[in-house]
Order: sequence, then C-alpha cells, then structure tokens
Amino acid sequence: MTTLDPDDWSGLRALGHRMMDDMIDRLAGLSASPVWRPMPPSIRSGFTAALPVAGTGPEAAYARFTETIAPYASGNTHPRFMGWVQGGGNPVGMLAELLAAGLNENCGGRDHVGLAVERQVIAWSAAMLGLPETTGGLMVTGSSIANFIALLCARRRFCGPAVRRDGVEGAPLVGYAQEGVHRCVPGAFDMAGLGSAALRRIGTDDSGRIDLAALEARIIADRAAGCAPFLLVGTAGSVDIGAIDDLAALAAVAARHGLWFHVDAAFGALLALSPSRAALLDGIGQADSVAFDFHKWAQVQYDSGCILVREQQWMLDSFAQSASYLTNTARGLAGGAPWPCDLGPDLSRGFRALKVWMTLEAYGTARLGAIVDHGCDLAQRLAATLAASPMLVLAAPVALNIVCFRYDDGGPDLDGLNSDLAADLQEAGQFVVSTTLIGGKRVLRAAIVNHRTTEADVDALVAAICEAAQNRRHRSA
Ligand SMILES: *Cc1c(COP(=O)(O)O)cnc(C)c1O
Repeated sequence: MTTLDPDDWSGLRALGHRMMDDMIDRLAGLSASPVWRPMPPSIRSGFTAALPVAGTGPEAAYARFTETIAPYASGNTHPRFMGWVQGGGNPVGMLAELLAAGLNENCGGRDHVGLAVERQVIAWSAAMLGLPETTGGLMVTGSSIANFIALLCARRRFCGPAVRRDGVEGAPLVGYAQEGVHRCVPGAFDMAGLGSAALRRIGTDDSGRIDLAALEARIIADRAAGCAPFLLVGTAGSVDIGAIDDLAALAAVAARHGLWFHVDAAFGALLALSPSRAALLDGIGQADSVAFDFHKWAQVQYDSGCILVREQQWMLDSFAQSASYLTNTARGLAGGAPWPCDLGPDLSRGFRALKVWMTLEAYGTARLGAIVDHGCDLAQRLAATLAASPMLVLAAPVALNIVCFRYDDGGPDLDGLNSDLAADLQEAGQFVVSTTLIGGKRVLRAAIVNHRTTEADVDALVAAICEAAQNRRHRSA
C-alpha cells in the first residue's frame, strides 16, 4: 500500500457519516452528560503504547476514539463548564474544520482562496474594532503568540531595521501594563530576550483598571533612569476579573510618550459586537495592534487567535525574509504577495480562517453580540444569587462575564476549602469552576463564556457549591 486513500471509498463514507452522527448526538446531549471525567489509569496508560508499525485501520482507530478519547475531553463544550475563559465551539465551526481539513491548504503563502478568506477575516476584524483599512493581520494559535508578534513589531519599529540582525543594543527596552495583565505578556518579554522584568506592572484602581497617574510617573522615572520605554499594553478583559483599562486614555499616554500602543483584548474584543457594551472598548481603534481570540467569546473552534497591526507594512518590516524558493512572482500560483509567511513567524500554516469565516457568515455578528450580552447577564444573575446566599461572598466587582467569589462559613482553612470545592465539583462531573487568588485569598472563579450556558445552570451552580461545602464540613466534623 503506497497511498493512504482507500480503493473503495464507500466504507470510509459510511464511517464518516457515523462519526458525524455520533458527534452531533454528543453535542445535542451535552447537558445530560458529566462536564468532565477524570481519566482512569487504564485509559492514561493506553497512550503510552509503542509506535504502531502496522495500522489497525480506520474502523478500529475510531472505535478507540469513541471508547478512550471522547469521554475524557476537557469539557469546555459543556454548558456547565465555567472554569476558565474558554469558548464552547459551534456546529458550523466544527463542520468548517472538516472542510478545511479536506482542502488541506497551506496558508503560508501563494495565490489561492485560503489567503483571500483570511484577508477577509482580518478586514472584518479591523472593521469590528474600528481599525483603519491599512490594518494587516494574521490568524494565529492564540492571543499568547499574538501578543508576542505585537511586541516584536513594536520592537522593530522602535529600534529600526538593524535590530533584526544585531539584536537589541543600547538602553534597555521597557514596557508597561496593569498588574492583572495575562501571564503571556511578561512571557513575550521573556521570549523576546528583553526579560520579563522589563514589563513594568502598574497598580490598578478598585475596578481593576490601570492607574494612569502611576503609569505616567513610572514612564518618566524609567526614562530618567536611562531606560527606553517603547510599549504600552492595555488590557481589555483581564483574565481574573474581566476588567477593562481606559483605552482612550492609554492611547493618549502612548502618543504623549512615543510608545507603541497594544491592546490584549483576548476575549474582550467581542464586546465590540454588543450594542450595549461596545463603549467599554472606546479607544481600541487607536491601537497600533490588538491581540484577540475567536476561540473564546466568538465560539469558534480551537485554535483561532488573531493579531491585527494598524499598518500591514509594520508586520512586513518585522518579519519579511527573502528565500529564493519562496520568491513571489507576478503570475501563477507563486503570485499573490504579500504572503502571510512575511507577516509573522510561521511558514506552513493551516486554514484557520475558514472556521471563523463560516461562523461569521452563518450566524452574523448580531447573534455573537447577543451571546456576549447573555454571558454578562448570567454573570450578573450569579452575582445577585450569591448576594442572597449567606455563605457566599463576592470577591471582585463583576465587570463582564467573570464572577469571583468565596465560600466563607467562618470555619477553618477557607483557602483549602475553596480549592477543594472546585475539585469536588469537577470530579463529580457537575460543574467546572476554577480558582484564583484575589487579595491573597483563594476564591472560586466562574467565567461564563459558553453560548450553551443557561440561567438554570447558573442557579444550579450556587446550590451545588453550598451542598458540596456542607458535605465537606460535615465529614470533617
Ligand atoms: C486567554 C487570554 C490570553 C491568552 O490567549 P491564548 O489564546 O490562550 O493564547 C491572553 N490574554 C488574556 C486577557 C486572555 O484572556
């Protein structure tokens, strides 16, 4: 056998139909199934096998998928998954993944429709956020790499072309963000060789927004100390509490001090589609770059991150390379410049844009905006339910769709209790909530992102937590 295609496709067609039916049944029946199941040791050890020399065939491989993979997925498709800021995926996005896989496009470059679709998605994204038509962008794995790409563009623009050959020379580059910034931003400073300490983390006000006076004071002090401030990162939707910096004010600070203004809007960007909440993002259209994800609030399948840069030229300046076998031509398949491989670090790239394009094309932005509002409304409902429950205390203001709270019965080891409660609910398959630290205290965190989550799910969460807590206290009494 020297091709992987079957001689007769009929068996594979039938198998494909069965896979589709099984997956649709699974999605239609989510609420009757556990959110998550821990993997038993026998399942885990099934994935330490030797490299298979003779394959078992598609039927057997699918049987193993059904028995040993599908039941142990992480659960973020489930309406009661509120653990982290993760999207639930959507049916059209799922089918688009199949179509993209069938085409098997390499979207690194050349003149084909995959790149036209991606450029369409980038143009739509720029329009959504009020960025100009000169905006360039790329579909990437997620906001982590998108933030890194933005940092590299800012560095190249600040330092000039020589930085690409010689690296950073002279005064140490420093950047700024609020203390609730996602860990991938200091991570980007680390990866770029600037060191994570070069990102100055500025304090916040009561609602978790960056303190503007402290920010400007730090920029001035850094410059006086011989550092070279080059980048200001605004947060639009902090991962712990959903806080949004005053982006218009940050744009003004950046302009005053000659800094590149980047916004990490990983999930918050989708607020632009909510008529009642879009104003929270005022100023984002002035950014030099924005990182965000379609795989969170936009409910597109993983992975689908996006980086937008105000001038496509700034991406070319930062990433274009010449290689003779990759030379663009005026005609033929090797045309179509500029290619995505010259806008970012990847050469081979999958057709991520298709699932985004199909999701937007099929459902439209109004429906996605309504999902964003629904998540925020459910978070308010959860906060109100907590307020009526004597043992549950809200731990941070609810700006968007994230609710941080703590079970507090005045008993011992509340940090341990709250951690245990999250794990108890997860292991029972009832709910996935996570924990975080707020003001040094371990709290429960419910991030309501999934479009499938309902009011009944939110109400049941409060009841389940109280019950689990009473069980624990009862057992230890
Ligand atoms: C999720 C998130 C990130 C990281 O994005 P990935 O898509 O997971 O790489 C960065 N910043 C914020 C605010 C986030 O919520």
